Amino acid sequence: MSELTDTEREVLTTACDTIVPSIPCTPDDDGFFARKASDLWVPQVIDYLLAGLPEDQRASLITLLEALASRDFLNASTRFREGILHELSLSGGDAPGAIDALRSLTVSLFYGLPDEHGQNPNWSTLGYPGPMTLRPGGEKLLVPYAPDGDTTLEADVCIVGSGAGGGVIAGVLSEQGLSVVVLEAGGYFAEPDFDQLEIAAYRNLYWRGGPTLTADGNVSLLAGCCLGGGTVVNWTNSLRTPTRVREQWEREFGLEGLAGPSFDEHLDAVWQRLSVTDRCSELNRPQQRMKAGAEQLGWSFKPVHRNTDERSYSFETAGYLGFGDRTGAKQSTVKTYLRDAYERGALLVTRCPAERILVERDRAVGVESAWFDPESGRCAQVRVRAAQVVVACGALESPALLLRSGIGGPAVGQYLRLHPTTATVGYHDEDLEAWMGAPQAGLVDEHESIEHGHGFLIETPQYTTALAASGLPYIDAHAHKSLMASFRHAATFIAVLRDRGHGRVTVDHDGNAVVHYEVSDELDVRNAQRAIAAQARLHAAAGAGRILAAADGDDAPAWRRGESLEELIAAAQRVPLGAGGWKLFSAHQMGTCRMGTDARTSVADPWGQLHHVTGVWIGDASAFPTATGTNPMITIMALGHRTAQAIAAATPRSARATAA
Ligand SMILES: Cc1cc2nc3c(=O)[nH]c(=O)nc-3n(C[C@H](O)[C@H](O)[C@H](O)COP(=O)(O)OP(=O)(O)OC[C@H]3O[C@@H](n4cnc5c(N)ncnc54)[C@H](O)[C@@H]3O)c2cc1C
Repeated sequence: MSELTDTEREVLTTACDTIVPSIPCTPDDDGFFARKASDLWVPQVIDYLLAGLPEDQRASLITLLEALASRDFLNASTRFREGILHELSLSGGDAPGAIDALRSLTVSLFYGLPDEHGQNPNWSTLGYPGPMTLRPGGEKLLVPYAPDGDTTLEADVCIVGSGAGGGVIAGVLSEQGLSVVVLEAGGYFAEPDFDQLEIAAYRNLYWRGGPTLTADGNVSLLAGCCLGGGTVVNWTNSLRTPTRVREQWEREFGLEGLAGPSFDEHLDAVWQRLSVTDRCSELNRPQQRMKAGAEQLGWSFKPVHRNTDERSYSFETAGYLGFGDRTGAKQSTVKTYLRDAYERGALLVTRCPAERILVERDRAVGVESAWFDPESGRCAQVRVRAAQVVVACGALESPALLLRSGIGGPAVGQYLRLHPTTATVGYHDEDLEAWMGAPQAGLVDEHESIEHGHGFLIETPQYTTALAASGLPYIDAHAHKSLMASFRHAATFIAVLRDRGHGRVTVDHDGNAVVHYEVSDELDVRNAQRAIAAQARLHAAAGAGRILAAADGDDAPAWRRGESLEELIAAAQRVPLGAGGWKLFSAHQMGTCRMGTDARTSVADPWGQLHHVTGVWIGDASAFPTATGTNPMITIMALGHRTAQAIAAATPRSARATAA
């Protein structure tokens, strides 16, 4: 049911049609310029989505609609309405953030919403084909446990979260003969469910329904929320932990063996189980351009290894990997470690977010969680009795679970690292079809360690029309539509920064995670500026005729061949990093429950167990002492592999997991 009054709903429709209006333009064969947001039901969808937005975002959007109504928005001309939105976006308070959010939602839905045939009428102009029709390359092999009313389960180990870390730990511990229950907040989706549609994928597979801004509006966060977590939606770039990071973690944080051959064994083990290969890394056209640019500049370009099954890999469909892999080639934890655990008797309980960890006399005794089934509407309390509890909810949610449970000490939620990422787009004359081929089959590692072991990697992202629409600068409606019309000519580069500074995760009064992050550390600011310059030079060397920064604001930097590149770089470096300036992204969240020897600055000891609570272990990216500066999946898994062995050593074996 709508939360809006009739007037607010009318204002919403008018606002959406101001952001994406009908623009007279000839020729306009496909009716692309004539089409406005409400022609594709965008306002109705936003109205429907309102109920699922976090409280603060919902409230600020409704306040914005009220503010617009009070300015006679409904009776104003289109130009005047644009002026009102523009004026409010420069005002103080919550209005600029709310306008950004509304704009972003409107354009992503306008370019992403499919009709009943899985197509969006704008795609023909963009040159984007939409989903490829192919038969799913696998079946739904796992059957998650569904409780019949309130239930207590017993196990040696309860693992909360089934992503890169939790999945590996479940597989290894069940192999060691321990009984395992895995609680996962998201649902179970597999090849037959992956329809290669962006908006549906965000809703089914992603944390909070897709790209979500930090509370301060600085960074857009992407994380998995489904059985398999980030490993189901990620881009399969498999990088080993850099030596300098391993040495730092051993030297400064006491992680014994990290720099030596014993950690190599953990890396090798996950590498092998994930079928990591370099034989599925054919470069797509944007990556070919990137490689050519790097060669011209004399920069190092390196092919990427990927966790992909060569037998089912297809170049044509690898570009949809962020929406789940319909071919079944991606070796997520669902296809590997969770499956191993399941076959050995582990219970996988999906749609079952853990609420708190139960502790008695400083020892873990279990977990309390709430199961629900969206299809039947049934729900139940699920309690797991276990002497070992692994916290592996990802670095955004693991600290929230500890904070709700009142354990973990003063460092819980601190030291959030995000690898904050800037994006730039180069436009070429040729059709680049960026939606085809593996998103990251090669990268530029020239600047990975340029100051004190910190620097950045330049990579190419996976994206289709909705993310592109919200990532591109919005100067005015006509300019935005014109940019989208050139979608097929775009090569997007991202610079993934190894951050030294950090943000934090806290909880609101309902226990929900609240994320704050600002790029303010001087080394990070310096490296971000270098990353911006490097991206611009790389696009120019790659032959782009035009370069754009993914930034907000009236003067989002742009360049055309023939203009001064140095002026573009200087202008781009003046744009603030975060809200109102560069649109920063993060698909790598780390460090919020980190390992270390000092209980004031870390949450877990160097083997992953909480300093002050026996039997609670940190098993995901939140255990990282620092950012790695590389795409983190392989490191999370190898660290999880190491932690699993420590848990096994601390646990006597018993029977399989049972309902008590
Ligand atoms: C779009 C995208 C692309 C990426 N590409 C790459 C790549 O190519 N290479 C790479 O190395 N890395 C990549 N990453 C990053 C990588 O996938 C993540 O860093 C990794 O999955 C994080 O592992 P994790 O175990 O910390 O958490 P996750 O894998 O996020 O798993 C955490 C799980 O816990 C669940 N959960 C949360 N709260 C609760 C709760 N209260 N109770 C129960 N369950 C809960 C979540 O639903 C989730 O399934 C990418 C990430 C994204 C989002």
